[in-house]
Amino acid sequence: MIQAKGYAVHSATTPFKPFGFERRDPNPNDVVIASRFCGVCHSDLHTARGEWGGARFPCVPGHEIVGEVTAIGDAVTRFKAGDLVGVGCMVDSCLTCEPCREGLEQYCEPGFTGTYNGPTQDTGDNTYGGYSDRIVVREEFVLSIRHGEQDLAAVAPLLCAGITTWSPLRHHRVGPGQKVGVVGIGGLGHMGIKLAKALGAHVVAFTTSPSKVEDARRLGADEVVVSRDPDAMKAHRNSFHYILNTVAAPHDLNPFLMLLKRDGAMTLVGVPPEPHPSPAVGALVMKRRSLDGSLIGGIAETQEMLDFCAEHGIVSDIEMIAMQEIDGAYDRMARSDVKYRFVIDLASIADAS
Ligand code: NAP
Ligand code: ZN
Repeated sequence: MIQAKGYAVHSATTPFKPFGFERRDPNPNDVVIASRFCGVCHSDLHTARGEWGGARFPCVPGHEIVGEVTAIGDAVTRFKAGDLVGVGCMVDSCLTCEPCREGLEQYCEPGFTGTYNGPTQDTGDNTYGGYSDRIVVREEFVLSIRHGEQDLAAVAPLLCAGITTWSPLRHHRVGPGQKVGVVGIGGLGHMGIKLAKALGAHVVAFTTSPSKVEDARRLGADEVVVSRDPDAMKAHRNSFHYILNTVAAPHDLNPFLMLLKRDGAMTLVGVPPEPHPSPAVGALVMKRRSLDGSLIGGIAETQEMLDFCAEHGIVSDIEMIAMQEIDGAYDRMARSDVKYRFVIDLASIADAS
């Protein structure tokens, strides 16, 4: 077995602590990765603090992992030692059901194996994620990174925040000539703005934080609306082709649905611990509007997104932290106070006594 060092929470109400554990020796199709950086997703917080229920402790979160290959199993063909790679939210799935065969492993019918909070496909054991110094992952779930090494830390958030916004933007064929809204400027939302802009849309950012207005423009938004201002919201009624809603808390969806044109759609990617109030039926039927949801993205489209970002010079805007600063980072994320993704420098794990 491979000895790994990470940080775990042992209950929903206790802080992170250093945690030693074992990773499996590589199977023939496994890649061993020395993890260098890991992004901090709001899903990590929802899970570790027990907001979603179902957390398995000890819990080592983290599903925005970048690092370097240190060893490969005998049957691995796509990677070699020294390659820069990424691992996102999934480390395994059945690979045989219809969604898996279509490259939509996130919708695997028996269920994919999360990078943390398991369960593994064979024994149902817990999995430990990216807040750790190394990880062993089957080849099919490892992504190639084509950005330069200097961008590595800022590439990490693409593995969840990037793909979770890319997948619905592509599914809804967002592109030139469309007016597209992005609601909530956090980790996901700031990537949504960058990607929708790079796909050629006219992008309007919606924020509850007036302090983020200038940043939203810098991130690529053509217009910014403070969503708590009813008059500013009204000025955009019936004008959007598509809205991507990344908000991590329950809120009234109706003011956003009313902004959609006839046949417009809003996708929910935020998964608040408590449900949103049910939207008004009239807001949907009167203009044949639709409301849908979307879960991360498949492995092939994650690679497509990474390559698109490498080609267009897109990375995340990050605040680098040491592993030991994680509890405070969660507190700030809970207050919508992150510009715009925390990334853990995993070299700091070695400093744990
Ligand atoms: P984040 O960085 O905390 O950003 C969420 C943003 O939502 C905040 O920055 C804030 O933006 C806005 N917000 C927060 N509380 C609000 C409230 N009460 N009312 C209105 N707006 C509020 O979180 P994230 O990492 O981007 O994740 C966002 C959500 O997506 C989480 O629920 C996460 O679990 C979920 N998620 C889903 C998937 C998926 O596959 N569907 C994947 C990853 C994450 P402003 O300050 O601009 O208002
Ligand atoms: Zn995530």
